[in-house]
Order: sequence, then C-alpha cells, then structure tokens
Amino acid sequence: MKVRISFISISVLVLVCSILGFQTNLISEAAASNSRAKAKNVIFMIPDGFSPAYAANYRLYKGEPSVMDSMLVGMVRTYSADSALTDSAAAATAMATGYKTNNGMIGRTPDGIERKTILEAAREQGKAIGLVATSSITDATPAAFSSHVFSRKDESDIAQQQLQLADVLLGGGKLFFLPETMGGKQSSRNLLEEAKQRGYRVVENRAQLESASGNQVLGLFADGDMAPELDREHTNEPSLKEMTGKAIDILRRGKDGFFLLVEGSQIDSAGHYNDAAWAMKDTESFEEAVGLARKFAEEDGNTLVVIAGDHDTGGMTVGGYDQTDAKLEVLRQVHASGLYMTKELKNDRSNVKEVLKAYAGIDVTTEEEIAIINAADAMQAINHVISKRSLVGWHTYLHTGVDVPLYAFGPGSELFRGLHNNTDLPHLVSRAMNIDFGDEKYKK
Ligand SMILES: [Zn+2]
Repeated sequence: MKVRISFISISVLVLVCSILGFQTNLISEAAASNSRAKAKNVIFMIPDGFSPAYAANYRLYKGEPSVMDSMLVGMVRTYSADSALTDSAAAATAMATGYKTNNGMIGRTPDGIERKTILEAAREQGKAIGLVATSSITDATPAAFSSHVFSRKDESDIAQQQLQLADVLLGGGKLFFLPETMGGKQSSRNLLEEAKQRGYRVVENRAQLESASGNQVLGLFADGDMAPELDREHTNEPSLKEMTGKAIDILRRGKDGFFLLVEGSQIDSAGHYNDAAWAMKDTESFEEAVGLARKFAEEDGNTLVVIAGDHDTGGMTVGGYDQTDAKLEVLRQVHASGLYMTKELKNDRSNVKEVLKAYAGIDVTTEEEIAIINAADAMQAINHVISKRSLVGWHTYLHTGVDVPLYAFGPGSELFRGLHNNTDLPHLVSRAMNIDFGDEKYKK
C-alpha cells in the first residue's frame, strides 16, 4: 500500500511537473517572441490638443467608436519644465528627446543644451525619415522632433535643420522656405531652391503630390498653416490621410525601415478658437490617417503605430450649459469653420442669418443674431452659438493640464500600457525598435 501511494504520488508529481514545465515553455516562448518582436517602422501620430473629452465627443459625433478607441493603452502626463500647462514646443520636445523643457523651447533643455531626438536616433540606424503636419511643417510639434532652437518662432532655422534630417516633409509653411526678397519670412536663403538642388521633388498642391516620384519629397501646400478640414474643399490642399499615405509609400522603399511623424495640427487650432465643428471634423480627418496607418501596420507586421496627444486645448467638456445631454449631431450639419463663416459676413454683419443657415444649417434666433452682430469678436460669437447648440462646453482659449490618451498598435505596443510621463515615450519607442536611446532605466 505504501509503495502504491508513493507510486501514485510520484506519478502525480511527474504529471504536475510536466504540465508546469509545458506552461513554463509556453510562457518563455511567448516572452522570447515578444522580446524578439521588433518594430522596423514607426508611425508616431500626434493629435495636437486632443483630450479624453475630444475622444468622447468624437464618438458621439461619429455615432460609433473611433479607430483610435480599439488601440487605447494608457494615459500621458503633459506638464512642462516651467508650467503645469505645457505648450506644444515643450510637450513635443519631451516626447522627442525624453527631457522636459520650458514652454517655447525646441529640442533643447532649459539650460540650452541640445538633446538628441528619437527621429535623429532612428536616422542613425539608417531609417528613412518623414514629417507630416497640417500646420506649418516648421510649427512646434514637427519642429521639436527634427530641430534644436531656443524659440519655436525661429521657423526658418527650423526649416533648414529639417531639410538636413527628413526625406519627406509635407505640410504648410512655404514662407519659411523662401527668402524675404520673394515674400518669405526670416531668411535670405531660398530653401525651396536648395532642396531642389539636393534632389527633393518640390510639390505645392494635391495633384502634384499624388504624382510625385522619387525618394525625397518636399510638399508645402500653404504659406502658413493649411486649411481646416471643414474648409479644405475651397483649396488645392491634400488631406492628412493623403499626405500620410504618400509619405508611407515613399518611406517604405528604404530597406532599413522608416520613422514617420504625423501631426493632426488643426485639432489644437480648433480648440484655441473654441470651434466645436472644426474640432470634430479635424478629429475625423486625423482618424482617417490613423485608419490608413493601422491598415499598413496590419499588413506589414513590422510597424509600430503610436498615437499620443501633447496636451488638451480649450478645456472641452462633453455637455454643459446646465443641460443634461449632448447633441453632437448638430455639428454634422456644419460645413465651414467659424473662421470661414466670419469672412463671409458683410461689414455690418447684416447677413448673419443667411450665413449661419448656409454653412451651419442653423436658423439663428433673434437673440443669437444680435449677439453675433454686437460681439467684439464675431467668430467667437458664432462658435459660441454652435457650441451651445451642440452642448460642447469650453473652459478657456488656451491649453489645460489634463492627462491625454495614449494609443498603440503593432510590435512593442504592450510596452505603452499604463500612465506615462511624456518623457517616457521616446524611450518606449526606442525599446520597441531595439535601438539605443541612452537611458539605463529603459534598457532590457
Ligand atoms: Zn495650442
């Protein structure tokens, strides 16, 4: 009997051990495959000014979850070195270099020292580099990934540095690439001409972008910022999705992979104007670019897509005005920005009713009409009427300090789970890419 028990015990022990061993094998194989999983390509996307309230309002506007929703992995803290409320320069410097800096500074710490960006580290690995934005390409967010200046206003300096780093640059800001003698800003150099001589194909509208060939393309589609998506039909500008698609088509030809930065710049602009329809439409435009990037990543299998806002703009709320609902569907009838509608007003603003009916699908009340006619700023008044009717609340024309959502998809995306500081992001990206970004804390 004793022998039998021992035999059974041993048998059970062997069985347990073999199950455990099998599971251990499974776990170690999964861990090994995770540690082997390497992002050859990175598409880093920044919806400037986007907060959880934008995400929630956009879901109501769209009527279903967004493409981003299924990729949510965490949140990001946004404060800068000198303020609880960051600007885009300090936020993007943190996300690009891993260092906090003062508002307004680009690619440098408050002591003035230049800090390497994740884009520069990727370049050192032989990766092709792309920058896409709907603001000037020299604006703070793309600038902080690709240049080092003391002030975000030094946009011609930024342009010169960007041309040393990036193979593809698509956005606005043509005036910072032209000399003052040709109507340009800040410089005597003709960077457009220099770019052509160095082999860039230079394009200035949607059709030219579509047909552009070559491995280096400089696309400047507006003198300054590009148009809001709501007003783009009145221009020859490409959409964010079209620019993102073209950039991927060009960059993917490189054998060592690529790093593409894409900014949905106009979400922030909408927030600064408290323009709810513009905010939702540019979020939709950003989502379309995300959808394209994600599809590429799904098919490619070696591409990490990371989406991180840099800060909230406007202190948007879902609902407000002492009402107990939200009416985002009102915004689907709006077909122009407040900026555009204001330009359509006569000098005496006698056509407020006609303009709001034509572009916003709204029959304004006499009270609303009088408020717009008498307002110190007609655009703010128009945006207020539309925000109030859609029950989208705003708290400021500036940024706020709330945490913003973080999304990731593809190899290494599991690294991004949780609450991060914005300075963590380049280190997590470098881990996913398996490249050295010089911080022990993040080494495997
Ligand atoms: Zn801003």
